[in-house]
Amino acid sequence: MSQYQELPLSGLEPPLSEMEKAIQETTHRFAVEVMRPAGVELDRLSAEEMIAPGSRLWEVLDKAQGLGLSLTAMAELEPIERVRLLAIASEELSWGDAGLAGAILVNHFPVMYSLIAGNQAMAEYCEGKRGCWAITEPDHGSDMLDPQAHVAANGGRYGRPNCVARIDGDKVIINGQKSAWVSGATTAEVCALYCHVEVDGEVKPGISVIVPLDAPGVSRGKPLEKLGIRCLNQGELYFDNVEVPLSHLLAGPETYADLVEKTLAEANPHVGLMFVGVARAAYEHALAYAHERRQGGVAIIQHQSVRQRLFHMFRKVEAARALVRRAMEYNATAPRPALQGSAAAKVTATQTALEVASDALQMFGGNGMTLEYPMEKLFRDARSGLIADGCNELLALKGGSLLINPDLLA
Ligand SMILES: Cc1cc2nc3c(=O)[nH]c(=O)nc-3n(C[C@H](O)[C@H](O)[C@H](O)COP(=O)(O)OP(=O)(O)OC[C@H]3O[C@@H](n4cnc5c(N)ncnc54)[C@H](O)[C@@H]3O)c2cc1C
Repeated sequence: MSQYQELPLSGLEPPLSEMEKAIQETTHRFAVEVMRPAGVELDRLSAEEMIAPGSRLWEVLDKAQGLGLSLTAMAELEPIERVRLLAIASEELSWGDAGLAGAILVNHFPVMYSLIAGNQAMAEYCEGKRGCWAITEPDHGSDMLDPQAHVAANGGRYGRPNCVARIDGDKVIINGQKSAWVSGATTAEVCALYCHVEVDGEVKPGISVIVPLDAPGVSRGKPLEKLGIRCLNQGELYFDNVEVPLSHLLAGPETYADLVEKTLAEANPHVGLMFVGVARAAYEHALAYAHERRQGGVAIIQHQSVRQRLFHMFRKVEAARALVRRAMEYNATAPRPALQGSAAAKVTATQTALEVASDALQMFGGNGMTLEYPMEKLFRDARSGLIADGCNELLALKGGSLLINPDLLA
């Protein structure tokens, strides 16, 4: 008798509620029917072609609107219910194509961050508009994720920022530029901008403000060509005396560092979910291939070392998913989100995706390297995770600095 036991779609999953089941089925179908074929096609286009009118990116973004993943509507749910639904949906979409899932996710960032800042009016203003989050700058990538300089080198100074705002009466006036890495920047309608602020001649962190990207003085760079996650466009944003009403402010200098920390604590597990999706996709492809491919007169899964390698992929995917979900559930219910937990989730999930994608590619042998099979794309996609949303090294330093209990220090 076979000892084989079929597991649910997302592995060791306790029974889902009716709503969770419905979301999982809908997003899985969307991932299979729309995202996977579109992802393969878009990955091979140039960055310019990918965002051009008529590209399948627009079909995916339009159809994704029909999935019913409105954050302002979801905000009405119980916190645990909300984050479980988001986690289940995000994993399926990312399993379909992590770049496209990212493109859908970043559109929600301005709403998400307005809600974190407690600005309901801005959340409603941004709902339904394509969004992006601009924090990093050409000369300040990791620096911008550490506004209080908690992880700066001894004697190190972050120096002059590339983008500075000032408050003038009832307006915020913005000058400068953000890095070429702002996800969704070339297609977004609104931006959650996090930048420095000039107060009484002193430039300091910072300010967070919602900027409509059709405002006079805003311009954009070309979409970036890059290694993986090619279906998620990136590009610079330039601000030349851009004026935004003060009512668009999410945080000023007193609350900015707190908002950056809460934003990272929210974004990190979401990015983690993208890479749980990548890891699971890679594992499933390897598992299927191991049943099909014959060497030594048997399907390769009959070789003990192949089974053992598959087992470690399975184990890592389960562990990464469990940690990401746990961090999200903790943060949704705790009085204050734990950035160390979010960073641990993101670092674990992205490291897992890279390891699993690499091992899965190896299982395909030479076929893993070719464009005929899905592994080379998944491997490229997995590689971006270690940098996106904060380099894993920087997140580990930030997470580690949050473990210091000053009361226990002499
Ligand atoms: C796919 C993708 C999507 C992205 N999306 C966005 C987005 O939506 N919005 C946005 O604003 N940005 C985005 N980014 C930018 C991303 O956040 C930055 O690339 C990242 O924070 C690192 O910054 P950097 O590239 O300038 O590298 P740097 O900060 O220059 O780092 C270079 C190296 O130095 C190390 N390092 C830097 N500082 C320290 C330190 N204090 N201690 C120890 N080591 C350090 C880093 O670990 C890294 O290895 C995205 C990036 C990628 C790859």
